[in-house]
Amino acid sequence: NSKQCGGGGYRWYSILLAEEVEWTLKLHNQLQHALSEQQFELYYQPVVEVRSQEIVGIEALLRWHHPEQGMLSPADFLQAIETGGLMVEVTDWVLRQACTDLNRLMEETGRILWVSVNISPNHFVRGDVVSSVKSVLESTGLEPACLNLELVESTFLSFDEPVRRALDEIRTLGVGLMIDDFGAGFSSLNYLKKVPASRIKIDRSFIRDVVSDSADAAITRGVIALAHKLNLQVVGEGVEDRYQLAFLLRNHCDLVQGFLPGPPMPFEQLRTHELSAETRAAFAEVHGRESGN
Ligand code: C2E
Ligand code: MG
Ligand code: MG
Ligand code: MG
Repeated sequence: NSKQCGGGGYRWYSILLAEEVEWTLKLHNQLQHALSEQQFELYYQPVVEVRSQEIVGIEALLRWHHPEQGMLSPADFLQAIETGGLMVEVTDWVLRQACTDLNRLMEETGRILWVSVNISPNHFVRGDVVSSVKSVLESTGLEPACLNLELVESTFLSFDEPVRRALDEIRTLGVGLMIDDFGAGFSSLNYLKKVPASRIKIDRSFIRDVVSDSADAAITRGVIALAHKLNLQVVGEGVEDRYQLAFLLRNHCDLVQGFLPGPPMPFEQLRTHELSAETRAAFAEVHGRESGN
């Protein structure tokens, strides 16, 4: 009877597999239409400079208004973009939209801001990100210093000639480089010497319990100190409450980002976004204490 059982198990397994393959194929087809049907949207999350307590930059985060499933986050479809070979097209769209929106925002506010765009490791290593960046800067007229690329550590796992050349070219253009999710990848620290980055973002897994977990606190303090010794600015990501924010402020983090200072939001909302009272209170508390008030 165990044979029957096994057979049934196998059949069940192949049904699941077939469903998954079918779903993946469907997703690929739908993704191809997503660009032409304008189903993608960029959400923007503010990045706040600690010194000025002002929003100085924004991160572009991709959303997909799926015709049947509603709004999807990158975790739901980024892999399908990658395996479907659509990453170059999608990144080009993201770059263009982000630079266009930033131009508009700067015109309206009369302030200089930057936007950062996430680049997938595969695309950076295999694709021609440099020419995409050049062409978007040309067509939008955005100052190169107003654009940042966010790269995760695995981008630097193989630090071969094409990667090194692309990094240098981006830096020569004047576009900023930011190392995203710092500490969460499997890369060695060796690449920190070689990557011409201007900022690193401490992964939010360290920030989550930074107030209660002494190891997370030690790592976060250590990373900030290390980064400053290397002349890198530090962004703390995933800041959800005033205690986490106060910790980062006390430990000289340069920039903060998270649901507390501002969640990712549509462009229309970003234009009128103000820092919450709770965020302001945490700033006032820490700054007040430091200046002895
Ligand atoms: P990431 O670049 O590390 O982006 C930060 C993620 O953390 C975002 O998720 C954001 O919504 C979320 N987040 C921000 N603040 C908080 C917080 O306080 N608490 C918590 N729990 N989460 C917070 P999202 O938008 O789902 O994006 C996930 C990842 O997808 C991004 O991680 C990035 O690696 C990738 N991604 C997003 N947009 C693009 C894109 O246009 N191109 C590429 N290649 N990747 C993208
Ligand atoms: Mg990012
Ligand atoms: Mg990140
Ligand atoms: Mg992340």
